[in-house]
Amino acid sequence: MFIGHFAVAYLLIALFPTVPPLVILFGVSFPDLLWPVLILTGRETVTVSPDSPLQNAIGFTSYPYSHSLVTGTLIAAIPGLAIAYFVSPLAGVVFVAASASHWLLDVVTHRKDLPVLGTGNDTKVGLGLWNYPRRAFVIELIFYVGVTVLAVPPALVVPLLALGLAFHLINANSFLGFSKKNPFTARGYAVAALLGFLAFIGIAAWIFGGM
Ligand SMILES: [Zn+2]
Repeated sequence: MFIGHFAVAYLLIALFPTVPPLVILFGVSFPDLLWPVLILTGRETVTVSPDSPLQNAIGFTSYPYSHSLVTGTLIAAIPGLAIAYFVSPLAGVVFVAASASHWLLDVVTHRKDLPVLGTGNDTKVGLGLWNYPRRAFVIELIFYVGVTVLAVPPALVVPLLALGLAFHLINANSFLGFSKKNPFTARGYAVAALLGFLAFIGIAAWIFGGM
């Protein structure tokens, strides 16, 4: 999931107007910012299939730190404490909650590969919406558009819709399989995820900054 995480960010930005939008944008992205770093340093693993660009062909073989509910949320508490100290206690709490929301939304799309605790013989969950890629493409878009229209200030609706649509279309190959072959290696996929999240955060923060 990509743009869906930012829909939750917009909701949290509306609910907590005193928390800087940038804190919340980083919060909902935190697991997917940590994940590429852990992939590139070999602490977590992923496999991609050269024969399919679809998200259900990605093997999230091990990501107990970035994508477990308990361990991942504890790790998010480290920047959360720094944010609580330097920004405000509320901002720290909202950052950690935003990071946990990432895991909850990922449960909807991922296959049964998301660890709960992040330790040993762990329970793994996932409802597997990605097994229905066209449906997943439409549902994530509807969710993003619906929340954006309902939650963001009227002046920002059009730019944020344009931003989300642009990134969803960039992502479309992983839902609709235009290329048949996968253009990414595992490491390339991790780098693309990192750059994609950072770019989206930067542009969205800039749009909110012009409020
Ligand atoms: Zn994720």
